[in-house]
Amino acid sequence: MATGSPRTKVAVVGAGAAGMSCASTLAQKGDQFEVHLFDSASQTGGQATSIALDARYGATWLNDGVQGGSPIFRHTFNFFRRYGYEPQPVKLQVSFGKGTDSFFTNIFPSPLVDKFSGEIQKLGRVLKWIKLLMPLLGILPVKVILRLFRFSHDFGNRMVLPLIALFLGTGNQTPNVSSVLLERLFDDPQMKLWDYDPDTLLPNQPAMYTFPNLGDFYRDWTSYLDSKGVKVRLQTGLEILKRDSKKGVDLRIWDDSTHSSERRWEGIVHDEHFDELVLCVPADEAKKMLGKHATWREKYVLGGVNFYDDVTITHSDANYFNSIFETRYKAELCGKASSETRSEQIAFAKQTPRCRKDGWEGFAPMYYTHSFKQDPQKIEMGFDCTNYQHQFRQALGEDSLSFEQDRHVYQTIFLNKEDSDLWTWESIDKDKIIGEKWWHQFGHNWQHYTRVVPGMMFINGRNRTLYAGSWTMVVSVCLYCVFQPLTGTEYA
Ligand SMILES: Cc1cc2nc3c(=O)[nH]c(=O)nc-3n(C[C@H](O)[C@H](O)[C@H](O)COP(=O)(O)OP(=O)(O)OC[C@H]3O[C@@H](n4cnc5c(N)ncnc54)[C@H](O)[C@@H]3O)c2cc1C
Repeated sequence: MATGSPRTKVAVVGAGAAGMSCASTLAQKGDQFEVHLFDSASQTGGQATSIALDARYGATWLNDGVQGGSPIFRHTFNFFRRYGYEPQPVKLQVSFGKGTDSFFTNIFPSPLVDKFSGEIQKLGRVLKWIKLLMPLLGILPVKVILRLFRFSHDFGNRMVLPLIALFLGTGNQTPNVSSVLLERLFDDPQMKLWDYDPDTLLPNQPAMYTFPNLGDFYRDWTSYLDSKGVKVRLQTGLEILKRDSKKGVDLRIWDDSTHSSERRWEGIVHDEHFDELVLCVPADEAKKMLGKHATWREKYVLGGVNFYDDVTITHSDANYFNSIFETRYKAELCGKASSETRSEQIAFAKQTPRCRKDGWEGFAPMYYTHSFKQDPQKIEMGFDCTNYQHQFRQALGEDSLSFEQDRHVYQTIFLNKEDSDLWTWESIDKDKIIGEKWWHQFGHNWQHYTRVVPGMMFINGRNRTLYAGSWTMVVSVCLYCVFQPLTGTEYA
């Protein structure tokens, strides 16, 4: 933009991770951009939320949406540090399945790992093939790859699918996930969460990070944006009135609004003109906002993103959690001590877990999944947040034993409302429920990579409208796409 010209007035809609990063980057060029950040919610952060906890759980707060990430989350960590927050390392421990025929972990070998030893090694070879024949094999859904390379159903359902589901948050859509993600999960230096282990599939205790109190972090980040002149407009309703590639975008805005069930906003209403619109809301929400103004391309691309409604129950019902997942070391869950490494792993797992600054010495998993017997491709996910989030370890102090199990804070995630006949949420003791929240999540199915991701280039930047949001696949990539054309600089 030429110096001396009036500032470009930008409406950024959605104040989750994507919208906040977008507003933040534009705010660095305050002489060029007048930024208005809108959200229908009363706080920023989107799916990154925190709740207060009763003191009896040991910690006073919990991140009950987004909880952590892998060392590849460099941009996120930079944003934390900018506002004085530090992600905390934790050595990752997982527990998949229930009972000797389906349990496996990354902490010690199990009978399942021994049973599928040949297929684990074969998977390593198949990952190389996927990489080699990327465009061709990469878009195929994981379920097709598993069939194509003649993996057994049990190996797919008990080992591969739970692993992808948990780490990509793809839930019950995992069989339809494009296999490029499986390859990236293990192999891409920019994205990988794991090193592939030919013996046990997963590496032993890889580094992860848990996030600071995200409610506090987003509050401070919002204050900073405010101080940089960004107009943060929360609890606001929006309707798109007009878009013109030359003149810009007209919005109808309801300030301090409430939202009725028929999508009608109530509050102080007025119309406002913007030069650019950046939609950092879920794709289906963006499509609804565009309404009759959506082009056929936008309808096609945005309509290709599939969303699912999941519910998280945060609770302290140890009996329920123990009945669904394997939470403790048991001799019968142990595979053969056939090498020195395996013997060391078993000795480590046998100990009563002791608190360390960066995790637990002994078997104390934080991530859990189990498949439903009636439908083995569908899973229930869980977190032992006390084992996972650092504030509990800080409260305990190094070398301490953990809180008693009924003081642990657990989170159970029931996936996809349409599968709710499988859910066992009624079995959670109502008196032990701390909170219940619904989430609207997109699924990384293979169509996402044939329709949505390639389609983005045909809609982004048209009619003065840009798109961001995690559904554009990888937040950092999509934010780059948004900021680069607007600011002419790289997202850093
Ligand atoms: C339960 C759960 C746990 C997760 N855990 C992790 C984790 O541990 N690590 C991780 O990396 N990722 C995790 N994720 C994924 C992560 O939450 C998302 O990738 C990321 O937060 C999405 O950011 P976003 O800005 O794209 O969307 P969102 O965070 O969904 O933000 C969208 C914003 O748009 C607003 N909005 C919607 N409609 C409108 C409208 N019409 N007008 C105005 N505003 C609107 C919403 O209020 C919201 O604030 C988790 C997701 C869920 C649901």
